[in-house]
Amino acid sequence: MDVRETKGLILFNRDYREDDKLVKIFTEMSGKRMFFVKHASRSALNPVIQPLVVADFILRINDNGLSYIVDYKKVTHYSKITADLFRLAYASYILALADAAIEDNVQDPNLFVFLKKVLDLMEEGLDYEILTNIFEVQILDRFGVLLNFHNCCVCHRAGLPFDFSYRYSGVLCPKHYDRDEHRTHIDSNVLYLLDCFQQVPIDDVRTISLKPEMKAKIRQFLDSLYDDYVGIHLKSKKFIDDLETWGDIMKTQRD
Ligand SMILES: [Zn+2]
Repeated sequence: MDVRETKGLILFNRDYREDDKLVKIFTEMSGKRMFFVKHASRSALNPVIQPLVVADFILRINDNGLSYIVDYKKVTHYSKITADLFRLAYASYILALADAAIEDNVQDPNLFVFLKKVLDLMEEGLDYEILTNIFEVQILDRFGVLLNFHNCCVCHRAGLPFDFSYRYSGVLCPKHYDRDEHRTHIDSNVLYLLDCFQQVPIDDVRTISLKPEMKAKIRQFLDSLYDDYVGIHLKSKKFIDDLETWGDIMKTQRD
């Protein structure tokens, strides 16, 4: 076994036998791994193995079996996220998405840093729907999905009122709409924004503000892209969809 110190983010924990737990940690230096915590409820580790906790961990890594948490320091909690049902639902979804996007035990420090940055900005109070959309767009390549929102797939011109083509896995300009009779007829502003989301340095999110109708259109289109290209169905995403429905029902009752 190999003892390493690395920053880590708790993805989830689950019961294992009597009072033991398995804890999934996304570590900056050693990828996502499962750790075994004996007598979890009585363990000094209990407060730091909850989802969304970040800490500097000292870990005993076993490549052929369970790994162990030796010690930890500098614990950070996302208290504003966990105090708000909606914010928490979105944060849980991006954790699940990161978990689904890469294999266990494979180092991906860039994804770790990006995920942590998105959570930091959610904690700061920035728009969690836009942050989630940016995360969803930028993580597509981890699923092996490369979509071109930037320039026409036929003539490569940029900055036009594009439509999206599943046949080309990218956008078509008005001159080349006819290359795909099943083009999606999506609002070209949605594609313009997805192009921005794909390229935007995450710190620039502060400058983005969108109307609810535009957010709904983006949500719907990203759902179809994920259905067609990624094909995963996460419980945490279903929960967000249900929350939206409940939100609408509550609004209708108030009106
Ligand atoms: Zn074209």
